[in-house]
Amino acid sequence: MSNIAAEPAVQVCQGRPDAGPVRELLPARAVPLGESTVVRRLLPTMGRRMVGSWCFVDHYGPDEIAREPGMQVPPHPHTGLQTVSWLLDGEVHHRDSLGSDCLIRPGELGLMTAGGGIAHSEQSPDPHSPMLHGAQLWVALPDGERERAPSFDHHRELPVLREPGATATVLLGELAGARSPGQVHTALIGVDATLVSGADAVLPLEGDFEHAVLTVSGAPEVDGEELQPGSLCYLGTGRSTLRLRAATPSRLLLLGGIPFTEKIVMWWNFIARTGEEIAAARERWQAELTGEAEATEMVEATGSGAFRPGPFGAVTGFEGPALAAPPLPPTPLRPRGRTR
Ligand code: MN
Repeated sequence: MSNIAAEPAVQVCQGRPDAGPVRELLPARAVPLGESTVVRRLLPTMGRRMVGSWCFVDHYGPDEIAREPGMQVPPHPHTGLQTVSWLLDGEVHHRDSLGSDCLIRPGELGLMTAGGGIAHSEQSPDPHSPMLHGAQLWVALPDGERERAPSFDHHRELPVLREPGATATVLLGELAGARSPGQVHTALIGVDATLVSGADAVLPLEGDFEHAVLTVSGAPEVDGEELQPGSLCYLGTGRSTLRLRAATPSRLLLLGGIPFTEKIVMWWNFIARTGEEIAAARERWQAELTGEAEATEMVEATGSGAFRPGPFGAVTGFEGPALAAPPLPPTPLRPRGRTR
């Protein structure tokens, strides 16, 4: 027997099928960030790399930084993604190569769209609040949008839904008719839910989204399971509601979206589709760091229509050197799906 179909369907094995609603606790990894901050990295993990188009989830703090510099992340580049800065306590000073220069405070959305290339720095200002607590999240851009012009948006006003015992702020996407002003390029949701003692609330969900809950404080009971701060609980697909209860004051981020079916390559601060694109982005950044980019225009990319990263540009106002890219790994970078 041979397959006589002109274009046989390609079946991509992504490790595990979408099994509908599940509860899967994903472990955190401690990762140093800059010189003085350690974060808990919850995505990507070995077995699950994305939730919708959310592809990177760091939870940091609460850290006492009254006598410390706090977050100090020098200028570094991004491609192919949006960064979402969300603070629970303290503030972060964002600067980027478009000239953006702003302080992001709790309840405000910092949404940076890297597109084809941008550079930014993130710092605790001086002086700063004594506590620092927040989440740094990335959203992968789909193929048709990943080379778009970079942008930065600071949304100080976000829609808030109130129920007895529960308050939900919509960071991105739409919940119960309340839509975030943040521009996204895939169907997704990001919600900050605050629960008082004794809360018992039901959030409406999109049934064709997959979802996960990042617990940031307290001990919320999500779908009947009590969660701990700094944990990510993957909830699968096929849910139209999510019950949230709390015996003590608790706070969580609900992240979800249509499962992202494209395979991506994620390395350092770049998202691309091939290892060659990643190498080109790295080379471009390094060339800009050493001042060679304009002189030699060395990133002649990999054929017509290929992704051309950058220019990333300089971050004015940051005192100190930008971050150099680490060396590429010795083994080829391969595109990966949303699960393993
Ligand atoms: Mn960054």
